[in-house]
Amino acid sequence: MKRILITGGAGFIGSHLCKRLLNEGNYVICLDNFFTGRKRNIETLLPNPNFELVEHDIIEPIDIRVDEIYNLACPASPPHYQYDPIKTMKTSVIGIINMLELAEKYNAKILQASTSEVYGDPLVHPQVETYWGNVNPIGIRSCYDEGKRCAETLITDYRRQKNIDTKIVRIFNTYGPNMAPDDGRVVSNFILQALNGMDITIYGEGEQTRSFCYVDDLVDGLIKMMNSNLSGPVNLGNPSERTIKDFAKLILEFTKSDSKISYKPLPSDDPSKRRPDITLAKTGLDWEPKIDIFEGLKNTVEYFKTLVD
Ligand code: NAD
Ligand code: UDP
Repeated sequence: MKRILITGGAGFIGSHLCKRLLNEGNYVICLDNFFTGRKRNIETLLPNPNFELVEHDIIEPIDIRVDEIYNLACPASPPHYQYDPIKTMKTSVIGIINMLELAEKYNAKILQASTSEVYGDPLVHPQVETYWGNVNPIGIRSCYDEGKRCAETLITDYRRQKNIDTKIVRIFNTYGPNMAPDDGRVVSNFILQALNGMDITIYGEGEQTRSFCYVDDLVDGLIKMMNSNLSGPVNLGNPSERTIKDFAKLILEFTKSDSKISYKPLPSDDPSKRRPDITLAKTGLDWEPKIDIFEGLKNTVEYFKTLVD
């Protein structure tokens, strides 16, 4: 039985990954400081004897014997990572050093949840892994973008210098059940606004694009990456791209809501377009998303309805 550590395991993606890896017969250690994660996301896993919850902050070192580490700990929504930008940077930079030291001690494999944000406001479209990005080092998103970029550097240097088996995936916008209702991301905001009859808040003109991947597809990709001989970076995301304005209309139709659309200022450095080139994931991991937006939204809207009722 493999001992697998999932940092950020009580968060949105982490909770799905914990469940999947437990169901596949592993011993799963979920580590979280509960900054954005929630107990309710992992509640059903707690009675399982092969599941362990460790309340800990990855900016502090930790010693647990493990075979694999998925490093997901980091707030992911712009309002949450901008709440305490210094802490966000420490989580990415000091956190990954602590996890890499742990990986070295136990000769464990380590996978880093990096992000499409390393491409910043991209000048290459769709984004391919060889693109170095267009990132503002001193903007309001920098604590997250540059933190994740620095983590990629550290991982690659530990790999070169200390021969650690490392993996980097660059995750594009992912959605699904267990997203925190207050996290301010577009999927949770629009669905909750539509269900509550509140205005749908589009930032800017709504011409910016995103490409949304359902969480089950993403989790498949994470596990395939861990089990592959690739070190990455590898993009994981759904290449189906749409404008935020079209996404708002889709949510209104899907939820049969009478909500109106209202326009708010666009936050600074908000990327104008984003779509992954997933050729590498397709050829190297035999991975591509299978769940279309209608099926994904059905499950997600059902989940948010349970929070509203
Ligand atoms: P989330 O906020 O739901 O989960 C992050 C988890 O990490 C939470 O449980 C939080 O409490 C925990 N955490 C934060 N700081 C910590 C610390 N210092 N020590 C221990 N735990 C800490 O976010 P998510 O959407 O599940 O994202 C998971 C990972 O995937 C993040 O690293 C994020 O950067 C990356 N990612 C997510 C997306 C996406 O669209 N969801 C896109 C790109 C990258
Ligand atoms: N957005 C929006 N209304 C909202 C929340 C977000 O128009 O209520 C926009 C945001 O400006 C961005 C896109 O939707 O252009 C995706 O935002 P999100 O915070 O989900 O993720 P990002 O990809 O920006 O990290």
